[in-house]
Amino acid sequence: MKRYLGIDIGASSFKYGVGDSKHGLQCFDTIRIKEKSLSAFQEIIAQILVHVQDQEISGIGIGSPGTLRMPEGKLVGVNPNLPFFVGLSPRELIPKGFDLPVYVDNDANLMALAEANSYNCSEAIGLTIGSGIGCGIVINGEIYHGAHGFASEAGHCIMIFDGEECSCGQRGCLEAYSSVEGIRRRLQRRGLPYHALELPELIALRAVKQELYKVIEEGENLLIRAVANLITLLDPQKVILGGGGMDLGLYDIKRINRLAPKYLPKAHSQAAICVLAGFGNRAGVLGAITLCERKSGSE
Ligand SMILES: [Zn+2]
Repeated sequence: MKRYLGIDIGASSFKYGVGDSKHGLQCFDTIRIKEKSLSAFQEIIAQILVHVQDQEISGIGIGSPGTLRMPEGKLVGVNPNLPFFVGLSPRELIPKGFDLPVYVDNDANLMALAEANSYNCSEAIGLTIGSGIGCGIVINGEIYHGAHGFASEAGHCIMIFDGEECSCGQRGCLEAYSSVEGIRRRLQRRGLPYHALELPELIALRAVKQELYKVIEEGENLLIRAVANLITLLDPQKVILGGGGMDLGLYDIKRINRLAPKYLPKAHSQAAICVLAGFGNRAGVLGAITLCERKSGSE
């Protein structure tokens, strides 16, 4: 089976690994981002290529945060984390003259692809609960991009009319209530002193601080409704929840599974289909490798 190099561009580091979706990763490592610029990112990719030069690879998959216009794979819109990257494709990071195929996609899409593949699902939704809300939709075994690459923005579906401000410029989005940063901003606006705490401390404290418990519970309740809406719309085999928020126990998968069916049309009511993501911080790298396999038809 052919092996590929998967690269996942994160907020603070690049993760990478070589392998295939059947046997997993033969190696996995991270390189911290010291400077956010195109040349610094190109330098990190050059380092990665040196690290894997002894491994026989058949192509590279790259996962990037942000919205990628498809099929050219250019980052579009506002990207406060990587402003220098807007208008460019992650392919620009690969040295000129590199002659293997390079495939790119959004990081949440690749997480959904890797997890759907591991759960043996051809129809699945992946949701990551972290500083934002990431979403990827897999239909017929492939990432669904929509007409322009803008599909799967579940985090910016408006859940509350005229609600909290969101980073996207709208109000009342799911992300403004259910993401970790959304919860922090809501706490800060209420003058509650917990917004600066690390996530594990924040989660531990909710058991004894009623106002904190309420804000987190509201986030979970809106997430449950959003999950139900996604199930109603797409009828997936599974909804796979991951990201730091789920890994650390911000939300309870059992409660999500118990309550989501209450918001489904009665004819659709079904058994628990929400599961926890299994690959943790390797999902993006494995998804990038799975993307290479799907695109090159080597499976
Ligand atoms: Zn939004």
